[in-house]
Amino acid sequence: MFCKNCGQPYVTDQAVMCVKCGTQKGVGNNYCPNCGSPTPQGNQVCMNCGIALNNGMYAPMGAKSKVAAGLFAFFLGCFGVHNFYLGYTGKAVAQLLITLLTCGAGSVITGIWAIVEGILILTGSINTDADGNMLKD
Ligand SMILES: [Zn+2]
Ligand SMILES: [Zn+2]
Repeated sequence: MFCKNCGQPYVTDQAVMCVKCGTQKGVGNNYCPNCGSPTPQGNQVCMNCGIALNNGMYAPMGAKSKVAAGLFAFFLGCFGVHNFYLGYTGKAVAQLLITLLTCGAGSVITGIWAIVEGILILTGSINTDADGNMLKD
């Protein structure tokens, strides 16, 4: 994985932001995240390695649904289902454990947490999954 803003490789694939320029993972459209070669703005495919670039509002094939993630957050959010769906496993497990280990009492906390995330997902403030892929509407 390469930073889409400055083209530097990430230290690990799990990195959530670029340590060189401080840009969030998946943000920017100057470089290919797969091979790190420069990508002219507006290109939807890397001319070097051929992968689809998630520039602008372009969602990749198999993109996860924003609406589905939002509904999971509202109805099953205290179990972290929306975060499991989007691949944010650490956050999902935390929500699941808080709810289960408190015999449901913690669902007051995780429920509110999930509803906030559901709103962020539906309003587009959270618009990528854990791999940095755009969510489709
Ligand atoms: Zn960078
Ligand atoms: Zn490439």
